[in-house]
Amino acid sequence: MSLSRLIASIALVPAIGVAQVALPLKHKPVPTKPAITATDLMTRLYIFADDSMQGRQTGTAGHVKATAYIAAQVKALGLKPAGDNGGYFQNVPVVQRSFDPTSTISVDGAALYGIKDFVAGGGRGGASRSIDGAQVIYGGVAGDTLNPLTVDQLRGKLVIFSAAPPQAGGRDGRAGGGGRGGRGNANPAMSDVAGTATITSDSLFLIAARNSAPRSGTGLVFQSGDAAVTPPAAGALTISMKAAEVLLGMPVAQAQKGTLGKIVRGSLKFIESPVPARNVVAILEGSDPKLRNEFVAVGAHNDHIGMRAGGPVDHDSLHIYNEMRFAITGMVARGQQATPEQLEAVRNIRVNLDSIRKLRPVRLDSISNGADDDGSGSVTVLELAEKFASLPKAKRPKRSIVFVWHVGEENGLWGSQWFTDHPTVPRESIVAQLNMDMVGRGEKSDLPVGGPDYLALVGSRRLSTELGDLFETVNKLQKMPFRLDYQFDANGHPENIYCRSDHYEYARYGIPIVFATTGLHGDYHQVTDEPQYISYDHMARIGKLMYDMAVRVANLNHRPMIDKSLPDPKGRCQQ
Ligand SMILES: [Zn+2]
Repeated sequence: MSLSRLIASIALVPAIGVAQVALPLKHKPVPTKPAITATDLMTRLYIFADDSMQGRQTGTAGHVKATAYIAAQVKALGLKPAGDNGGYFQNVPVVQRSFDPTSTISVDGAALYGIKDFVAGGGRGGASRSIDGAQVIYGGVAGDTLNPLTVDQLRGKLVIFSAAPPQAGGRDGRAGGGGRGGRGNANPAMSDVAGTATITSDSLFLIAARNSAPRSGTGLVFQSGDAAVTPPAAGALTISMKAAEVLLGMPVAQAQKGTLGKIVRGSLKFIESPVPARNVVAILEGSDPKLRNEFVAVGAHNDHIGMRAGGPVDHDSLHIYNEMRFAITGMVARGQQATPEQLEAVRNIRVNLDSIRKLRPVRLDSISNGADDDGSGSVTVLELAEKFASLPKAKRPKRSIVFVWHVGEENGLWGSQWFTDHPTVPRESIVAQLNMDMVGRGEKSDLPVGGPDYLALVGSRRLSTELGDLFETVNKLQKMPFRLDYQFDANGHPENIYCRSDHYEYARYGIPIVFATTGLHGDYHQVTDEPQYISYDHMARIGKLMYDMAVRVANLNHRPMIDKSLPDPKGRCQQ
């Protein structure tokens, strides 16, 4: 255990974080070999998670560059393209939705203009509900839950809120992955409103108007064509004080919670421009004339969260701070609160940069490189592909292997939903899916249960007990078997990981899955998730285990037996 961690475990005294010398910032690539090795993984990950990939966000140039890298690799390996039109890419319909500044609405014939009086967010899901004919109602201060208005008062209304006064401090940087888990408004009575409009000060309104043109990678909408999944959402407007008075028909100061205002005419307009979003799909054809028509799917996600909206930060101090914060609160599950002692200990974290400043100057960093999330899974799948492709045809497994690098996982499992809704191989021919998301850390320094033999498994027996048993058998045959951690697979586990990564999009169609991960750490969804903090030996051993598992399933003389009830493919996932 390093010095900083020892200090961190003594939660009650001010904790001084000291820098550690990690691997180099840059790495000179060397030609890769067929075997699954730490060296190859390092070569690949330093390329795939380099700053030049700009955090690989869906819809951005970084995503295009990252997927081009994977496609070039599988092409060079001679794998069969299994994307659209004979290529390796399967395009996923994603548009960037931005507010159309020519939008106008009116009240009693008095016009309000887009950008000048109001702006609107592009919305997350599908279309926006219409506000045409909606009556205005004053909702009070945003977030104020006292004397809440009823669903009947709010139904079909345009609810005007005064902005809440700025709060001190945020929750510790845990973002959500995708998934079909819950997302919603704080006040359930808001479920049927036509829209909301938040009043901001004139200066803030100017900023909102300027920022209404979305940044690259934001304001994205997945056109899944599945209205069931993405019902129209309430419009979310930002309005000036003047517009609020026109909509309410009175000065805001005179309005009480529930005060009714004017009827709005007109609708919000949005511009939808297609943006790049693509899965990479490649096949290794099986050796058995019959079984080669069945597939073992091996997957990861190729996207991450891009650039830090808040601008650059000092990389080294954030990394040390994150490590210490995670050592104190990291295992506080989603939706649960850290204890006052833990919060006190976090407040007491002091980062000492003396030693590292001797080594290098401040590095300002705004790129979320996603080396572990999910650069680690993506390059490990590439290593499996390389080893499989190196086999003489006759020595290849009986069934075929389909490799899928999914886009849009961070946005809500978009790429895997699209692939499983529109598979480029017959869906019923996929006998199992092996998914890897964040397989590059998991050391003792990353999480209390970590270690060189640590691996967490989720979902391996949720549809097929046989598949889960088989994984254990294959693990036992490894030179250094993994200590398999099933804690995150418990029913009702607050992290809900079974629903939060791409494997679930296969499982919902009755395809048994195994999800492997080395778990969370302090750099999760931070600009500090970089290649120099990855455990390459550990990752290579996970790669060998997943390779052996894929071979085992691909050579079975029967499909893994499904012995559990099947989920509704369009239903809501709850672990
Ligand atoms: Zn991920």
